[in-house]
Formats: sequence, structure tokens, C-alpha cells
Amino acid sequence: MLSVEHLSYDYPGTRALQDVSFTVAPQSITALVGPNGAGKTTLLRCMAALAEPIAGRVLLEGQDIHEEPRESHKAMGYLSDFFGLYDELTVLQCLRHQAAAQGVAAGARAELVERAAQRVGLADRLRQRAGALSRGLRQRLAIAQAILHEPRIVLLDEPASGLDPEARQSLSELLLKLRAEGMTLIVSSHILAELRDYSSHMLILRDGRLVHHGPVSGEAEGEAQVAVVIELAEADPRLAEVLAAEGVDSVNVKSEGARVLVPDGAAARQALLRRLVEAGLPVSAFNVERRDLQDAYLSQVKKGDDAG
Ligand code: ATP
Repeated sequence: MLSVEHLSYDYPGTRALQDVSFTVAPQSITALVGPNGAGKTTLLRCMAALAEPIAGRVLLEGQDIHEEPRESHKAMGYLSDFFGLYDELTVLQCLRHQAAAQGVAAGARAELVERAAQRVGLADRLRQRAGALSRGLRQRLAIAQAILHEPRIVLLDEPASGLDPEARQSLSELLLKLRAEGMTLIVSSHILAELRDYSSHMLILRDGRLVHHGPVSGEAEGEAQVAVVIELAEADPRLAEVLAAEGVDSVNVKSEGARVLVPDGAAARQALLRRLVEAGLPVSAFNVERRDLQDAYLSQVKKGDDAG
């Protein structure tokens, strides 16, 4: 639905993006990561048709967004890393203004304004001045403005910066909700721990080049197996026998626990857990292991170091 083809971008004297190409899967959340100065903000600005690349193009459903930027903006929401709000306006006035600015038909505005406020949890603050909101609430208002017109693509540049842990948690939940409602999101961040909670894909930039793009472990379509970590309340030598009898691929088995590979899907895990319990093993934990996004990021960046 959204593809970036051979995109290059120059600031005077600086090549900020160099031949970047990738395609975003529909209804995914892509974490855009990379060291400071890697080109994340520049890429998002190019994708939002706010910066004109020197080469390459961005296609949204086949349409070059730089040819028809206004048309593309109807399908896109964008939150800049440093955004401004009209501090003297109330939350309601900010959202109404945004609806008008987005060209939403007058008859449809009230409903969209209400829905956006609900989505970000600001419905009870509609009369409050934007200037009187806390940092986290300002962030939510800015996100509400970005998604008000119900875009198919949402580009968020560092939406979690400056948020407290609770606000970050609700941001993660909001992003997952927007994905479930059909939106496709690209989110840049330095906070890998949070990205892990909601990202389906990871895209790593470094020195303006794409060094990795792919599904986050466990999300890969057709990924045949997932790792499961089993812990026993007390050591039991029968664990290895039961796992062997089940034909499970064991990566690491000890008498007090194991790490095994199980066919992906709840049914296979449920069957294995039932077998372990029926065999009388004192199972105290049974968890799908999600490879840490930070590990994946660091190993990709390290690969780049080794290659370069
Ligand atoms: P950060 O994580 O620090 O926000 P980033 O990955 O978003 O960084 P960009 O802001 O896209 O990176 O910057 C990419 C490169 O372009 C950097 O080398 C930066 O110094 C340079 N750059 C960014 N904005 C400008 C500008 N207005 N003029 C000149 N160079 C710029």
C-alpha cells in the first residue's frame, strides 16, 4: 500500500537519505529506529510529502505522493517531532479547527471530533485550554489532531518523547487500537522497550541508509515455530522424556526447565502444556519468548558496523 522507492534526500552539504527502498505492510506498526542523525525525521517528512527528495519516490496505493500532496494528505496523518498547538484554544476548538483545516465536510466534523477525543482519552477535557494541558495530554491532543480525519497511514515522529511511564503505556494501547481499527502506522522512537510492545515491523536506518527492515520476531507470517520457556517449581528429570515423547524440538532442557521450539499457534502450545500437566510435572511458568527488539536492533546495527 505504501512503498518508498530509491529515496535520496540532501540538505545543503549533507546526504540525509541514500537510496532507501521498502514497502510497508497494510495494518502494521513499523518501528523506525536508528542512531541520532540517521535520517528518521527526514524519511518521515519525505513520506508525508513535506520534503521533496532529490531522487526516488513514495507511492501510496500506486500514487506518487509528491505529485498530489494535498490528495495524499487526506489519507495520511503526521505528527512532527516538535509540534505546536494553539495554546489559547480549548481542546474542542483545536480539534474543530483541525477538522476544518483537513477539509472535513461541515456535517461530519462533530462526529469525527468526538471520536478523536474519545480515542485518545481527552473526551473529559474538551473545555480545557491546550496551553493548560500537561506534556502527556498535549501529546495526546497532537495525536488526536493527526488522526482526526481517520487516515489510512499514520506517521508519528517520536510520539513517546517526554511521556511518563503511564502515558507511554496508554500511547502503546492507543497505537494498537488504531492498528486494530485498520490503520497502518510508522512510529519513530529511541525507546526500544516501548516499541517492542506494539511494533509488528522494525526498520533501521543508519547514516541515511536502510540497514534492516522486517517483521519483529513472532510476527513473521509463516514463521513456523516460536520459542517457549518452561519452568518447573521443582526439578523433575521426566521433563526431558515428556518433551522427547512429544517430538518437541528442544533447544535447552534441564531438569528444572527448558526452552523448546513449538509450532506457532495457540493450539500447539495448549496441547504441549496439557501434556506436561497430565504427566504430573510441576509447571510453574510457560511463556512464549519474544525476542527483545533491543537485541534485534543491536545485532543489526552491529552487523552494519562489521560490514562497514
Ligand atoms: P534524531 O534521532 O537525532 O532525531 P534523525 O534520525 O531523525 O535524528 P534527521 O533529523 O533526519 O535524523 O537528520 C539526518 C541528517 O540530516 C543528520 O546528519 C542531520 O544533521 C542532517 N540534517 C537534519 N536537518 C537538517 C537541516 N535542516 N539542515 C542541514 N542538515 C540537516
